[in-house]
Amino acid sequence: MAVFSKDERVKILSDIIEIQSVNEKELDVAHYLQQLFKKYDIHTEILKLDGESSRANLVAEIGSGKPVIGVSGHMDVVTTGDSDKWHYDPFKLTEDNQGRLHGRGSADMKSGLVALAISLIEIKEAGLLKQGSIRFMATAGEEVTSNGAALLHEKGYMDDIDALLIAEPSQDGIVYTHKGTMDIQVTSKGKSAHSSMPELGFNAINPLVDFIHDLNAEYNKVDVSSELLGTPTMNSTIINGGDQVNSIPEYAESLFNMRTIPQFDNKKFEDLFNRTKEKIEKESNGDITVNPYVNRDPVYTTGDNSFLKLAKSLGDEYFNRNLEVTSSTATTDASYLMKDKGEDFSFVMYGPGETGQAHQVDEYVYKDVYLSFIDLYVQLLTQYLNQSK
Ligand SMILES: [Zn+2]
Repeated sequence: MAVFSKDERVKILSDIIEIQSVNEKELDVAHYLQQLFKKYDIHTEILKLDGESSRANLVAEIGSGKPVIGVSGHMDVVTTGDSDKWHYDPFKLTEDNQGRLHGRGSADMKSGLVALAISLIEIKEAGLLKQGSIRFMATAGEEVTSNGAALLHEKGYMDDIDALLIAEPSQDGIVYTHKGTMDIQVTSKGKSAHSSMPELGFNAINPLVDFIHDLNAEYNKVDVSSELLGTPTMNSTIINGGDQVNSIPEYAESLFNMRTIPQFDNKKFEDLFNRTKEKIEKESNGDITVNPYVNRDPVYTTGDNSFLKLAKSLGDEYFNRNLEVTSSTATTDASYLMKDKGEDFSFVMYGPGETGQAHQVDEYVYKDVYLSFIDLYVQLLTQYLNQSK
């Protein structure tokens, strides 16, 4: 007998959707899950993010010893965007007449997170685990910096893990490798002066314009690509500077977003920015600062492992299809969680929801897909651990 009925499984998801953890308040989600786990004697730990009162990770664990599977999902969601465009209350899980459950985070990724949590309880209560452990890691801050995952990595929660499952929405294809991402702020400092006497100041905009020009020229010479991930990308997406038309600006900045691949990774981008800074400072006498404030590495594995094969065969069976095994241009917490793992590591991103539903208006997950994933996870985790030698 299952611990939770279908209605109860939907109710837990609905409760979690109601917690408005929009880039904060993951602690409320963590407390809800902690209470749930406590009822079934599952040990948990809350790890607060430095200097944040409402942001925390939750770690729960069942079983004992090796091997150890890590399962992970993030508790934060993105903003609703223009809420007038929603046909449903984004923070009230609502079923439509096509069996879809709508709500912010229904796909990305509270359905995956809750499916993992419920599968953990079902496995424990049914005594399905013959050996090994499952470590559940619910993270904060995935949507912006992955600082929750960074903290877990730093504190050693990944050290003994043999396989990692992230339940991001990917019901139509199992992902085992993805691009990294990086945001860099470049600031230029000058000295303000009245525009009639510019010689008394230093215009901060000019070195910044030179910087962007030079950076683009250098980057255009880069010619790399990955068979699976394609080419890296680099774009200047925001530019600001000056505040009055008749004043020499003392400050200017530009923000850049990069999508990285192992052949041209975050470190290479950082080096490119720093080389450009040195060159421009020398040429223009400017004062430029390069600040990489989001830094999430690409994740590369070969996909040649039994964990991935098992996930695919179960996915094929549960959804009666031939699932694609693929790469993704999106980034996940694996950028930090897998920092010290090599390309042979068993990494699988597979969860309820269509990838394209992430961050959308009227975001949804199919109810039957969400429910099937709970059973699929029970099978995946227990079969993998019980069959390991
Ligand atoms: Zn996500």
